[in-house]
Amino acid sequence: MLPNYRRCISCRKVAPKEAFLRVVRLYPSHEIALNQGMGRSAYLCPQSGCLQIARKKDRLSRVLKAPVPESVYQALTQQLESHPLVKRQQLGNDRPTIE
Ligand SMILES: [Zn+2]
Repeated sequence: MLPNYRRCISCRKVAPKEAFLRVVRLYPSHEIALNQGMGRSAYLCPQSGCLQIARKKDRLSRVLKAPVPESVYQALTQQLESHPLVKRQQLGNDRPTIE
């Protein structure tokens, strides 16, 4: 795998780490954070499908070796909605001809 490439914990797709949402188990507090902080990390595509799989199969907890609270999934859902890659797609679909 190339440097700075990561793998989605749900679909196992490999991409530059900037393309993923990052969930971090902070060191040394073991709190779960999103996108920033140092510690054990899990990567997830900014796609609802991957978030659903991660949640259903409890992949985040397993990868991070820490319980992932409901609030983290809620925050991820929000991030997903506002993620630049996702937004660009939605704009393309929603407003084809407005000017
Ligand atoms: Zn994925």
